[in-house]
Amino acid sequence: MRSEFRTFKRGVYPKEFKITSRKKIEILPLPSRLVLSLKQHIGCNSVPIVKVGDLVKKYQKIADIGGKVCSTLHSPTSGKVVAIESAPYPVDVCDAIIIEPDNKEESIIFKKNDYKSLTREEIIEIIKEAGIVGMGGATFPTHIKIDNPDKNPEFLIINGCECEPYLTSDHRLMLEYPEELIIGCRILLKATKAKRCIIGIEDNKKDAYKLLKNILKNESHIIVRLVKTKYPQGAEKLLIYALTKREVPIGKLPIDVSCIVQNVGTAKAVYDAVSLGKPLVERIVTISGDVNNPRNVLCPIGATYKDLVDFSKGTKGEVNKIITGGPMMGISQKNLDVPIIKGTNGVIVWTNPLTNNDYSHCIRCGKCIDVCPYNLMPTQLAKYSAMGKYAISEDYHLFACMECGCCSYVCPSKIPLVQFIRLAKSELNRRRKK
Ligand code: SF4
Ligand code: SF4
Repeated sequence: MRSEFRTFKRGVYPKEFKITSRKKIEILPLPSRLVLSLKQHIGCNSVPIVKVGDLVKKYQKIADIGGKVCSTLHSPTSGKVVAIESAPYPVDVCDAIIIEPDNKEESIIFKKNDYKSLTREEIIEIIKEAGIVGMGGATFPTHIKIDNPDKNPEFLIINGCECEPYLTSDHRLMLEYPEELIIGCRILLKATKAKRCIIGIEDNKKDAYKLLKNILKNESHIIVRLVKTKYPQGAEKLLIYALTKREVPIGKLPIDVSCIVQNVGTAKAVYDAVSLGKPLVERIVTISGDVNNPRNVLCPIGATYKDLVDFSKGTKGEVNKIITGGPMMGISQKNLDVPIIKGTNGVIVWTNPLTNNDYSHCIRCGKCIDVCPYNLMPTQLAKYSAMGKYAISEDYHLFACMECGCCSYVCPSKIPLVQFIRLAKSELNRRRKK
């Protein structure tokens, strides 16, 4: 077993396939039905505060915080609550509030703010009420992540890496909302009491880097830096290392090395909430792969993948694979009925014939170990998981694995290493809950 936990220098270089990077954000026409999952975030479900038959307005709160790690939920449009029931969800199923829009877009009146006149506590409360969660895919409620009153971080790091192949939603956000993003950074600086903010962007997005650098030329507290394009550069611990050379040890959090990381989409959502008074009801999603018109789309939360595919002029053939998120860390979906949630940054649809999923035995080449950004031993983790010896895999730092997929990507025997790792984690978690 290797006890060292260093480097963060590894990773892989998959083909980028960022075919939508030059496509401007387009607005999805309002679907006829919105499926608003009560779990938009890590933690427990939010609790409905509307009932079937209620008429709701755009931006109205429809579900409240239901536990310590939780978030609020708002209606993306005006309409009628037609059901509160179990519905498809990116992982399994989840209770959801179903709204049929009335196409009137009647909105509640919301309060704009000058963030400079707000206290740190007031900003955090607005972010909490607006239902903001990490929009890079992690979906941790933002008001909890930024509320560290006893640990003022030195660095607020804004993640503009978007290292997954295919995805371009963050790239377009940086190009099309740069001012809003930067105000979001200023608000987050005030809320976190961080000394400085660094926006980290991979060097395959130099247009966004130059644009932000130009806007920030007279700014002393916010800088923008290019980092090398590799996968998974956008993983929190790797980005912290790339920008500050600080290593977050196993079992520790970024705040333990005086850093806090937020995604560019989260910073923009913070601007919308604090400056404009708008809760989080929509997000940018890249729809790509074998659709006829891959694009970046501003979607209401609760639109389905089918709404996105239809807006992209359908697919080039029969759908064989659907992924939510990017192809490296994304999750396979059974069908297109799954709704967009706050963390959905991409939907990739493939029509190619399914590849052979058979795998062969480990040839001990060590490639998986060479690429693991956290210096783990994926081959051992998978071996003990396959044997059902889940507890032993914990000795190999099972829970430090961020499931980035680099090991599976390089394995010449095509062993589904990440799936074995996920199996061991879920089995151990299940046993602990008993
Ligand atoms: S999935 Fe886990 S074990 Fe595999 S390379 Fe990524 S961090 Fe390492
Ligand atoms: S990359 Fe695959 S074949 Fe090579 S050591 Fe790792 S698990 Fe074994």
